Amino acid sequence: MHELSLVQSVLDASLDEARKAGNKRIRKIHARLRESGHPMDADSLQTLLETIAKGTAAEGAAMEIELISPTLRCRECDFTFPAQGSTLVCPRCRSGKLEEIDAEEIDLECSFVE
Ligand SMILES: [Zn+2]
Repeated sequence: MHELSLVQSVLDASLDEARKAGNKRIRKIHARLRESGHPMDADSLQTLLETIAKGTAAEGAAMEIELISPTLRCRECDFTFPAQGSTLVCPRCRSGKLEEIDAEEIDLECSFVE
């Protein structure tokens, strides 16, 4: 299940940050995920994250998941643009040779309980 592995990596990265910050409890997690392949639902990802965070330093933390469009790059003219819906051609040269960049990147911001 793709969603689960995604929120698992969000949680792992957050717990890592908490450890580096001196084993703090996490107060808030804000994750920006690139929507890749199939559409996802931010609310259900949030719920999933809350569920798997139980028993960790992130239990009870405020979860905020934001989904952003993946960036596409045209292999013909090197133009990059955010994917919108099911964009299948390059808006500049109309080529269909597109590739996703930064597909699995997660931007994460955590704040900790002082
Ligand atoms: Zn192009």
